[in-house]
Amino acid sequence: MSLIVMKFGGSSVANTEKIFNAARIAAKAYDEGNEVVMVVSAQGDTTDDLIEMAGKIDDNPSKREMDMLLTTGEQISCSLMAMALHKLGYKSISMTGWQAGFLTDSHYSSARIRRIDTERIRTELDEKNIVVVAGFQGINRSDDLTTLGRGGSDTSAVALAAALNADMCRIYTDVEGVFTADPRKVKGAVKLDEISFDEMLELASLGAQVLQNRSVELAKKYNVNIEVRSSLTDNPGTVVREVTKMEGMLIKGVTKDTAIVSMSILGVPDEPGIAFAIFSRLAKCGINVDIILQSEGNDGTQDITFTIPKSDLAQAQQVLADGKDAIKSKEIKLYDNVAKVSIVGAGMASNSGVASRIFGALFEAGVNIMMISTSEIKISVLINANDADRAVAAIHDEFIK
Ligand code: ASP
Ligand code: MG
Repeated sequence: MSLIVMKFGGSSVANTEKIFNAARIAAKAYDEGNEVVMVVSAQGDTTDDLIEMAGKIDDNPSKREMDMLLTTGEQISCSLMAMALHKLGYKSISMTGWQAGFLTDSHYSSARIRRIDTERIRTELDEKNIVVVAGFQGINRSDDLTTLGRGGSDTSAVALAAALNADMCRIYTDVEGVFTADPRKVKGAVKLDEISFDEMLELASLGAQVLQNRSVELAKKYNVNIEVRSSLTDNPGTVVREVTKMEGMLIKGVTKDTAIVSMSILGVPDEPGIAFAIFSRLAKCGINVDIILQSEGNDGTQDITFTIPKSDLAQAQQVLADGKDAIKSKEIKLYDNVAKVSIVGAGMASNSGVASRIFGALFEAGVNIMMISTSEIKISVLINANDADRAVAAIHDEFIK
């Protein structure tokens, strides 16, 4: 007998028909002799709709009250799912995050799971129930409801799989797995059979919207193998695990991120402490800096350019203005019509020539590169946002046939 945690995303529980479809998938696994725990997201666009409702009352609502509101979405799904299982003739019980034992810190809207008390779930599994847990939520030390951040049901599922020492964690969604590029946009994008945690982490943080970033971090930490698969077909999906087969592909994915801006701090003195003055200020407000480029100095001055998330721009401009005496720049320039196109694959580390092939593909597509950054398993280029789709297609064509 195996213990399987199955997570169903919002699109997989969007209406009555889909709820029954998901219930049948769980029931089938149960009939095969497994213990089954389902984790469900809010139906369809429910979370967005709730956020919009709150916005009509106050454009800056209390985060505690937002979490109180948003947890209801998942509560609807889990109760309906248990009812559907009853209707199909199965024993089932639904639980909110706190009933299921999810204890979190108090960072409303992006709480971290501190631990999961699985006793109640175990008891209900022993009673032969299919247990349905509301994803995305928990409870803090003062018994207030918290949520885990957008897409947080993935993290609920992986954390639960780790806490229950489950044999499998399946993430059911509306795509068939993890693709080499967005299949809706890139012709010839292929589904991967498997991908490593590190590669998936890069793809998730680069904007491939298959799994919440934190769920992959957790899966790596606790070595939980995840299978991402479709709730609409019976095809095998993509397995995310520590090590993938050696003969695997060189490149696992090409992504683009347009939610970034590039800032250039021009004409700073060529002396120690300037980079520190800039980046310590950004770090203090939790702004994630990505590609950094420092130009060669001339006339005793140099330029420092970097990218940050678009959503942090206003705050970054504020702290840099506040620190202008320490930073000593002549001018700050902003480029907001930019995109970061990245290519990810563990095979790159031991394969030379990947970078030159990327640059060749971009040259042939007539795309100009503004900045480049590389790591062991990733190469990113910053380009004009208008070129992003063309660049992704050109690079994808070069590596994935
Ligand atoms: N319902 C939440 C959201 O839309 C959590 C989730 O779907 O995982 O972000
Ligand atoms: Mg969702």
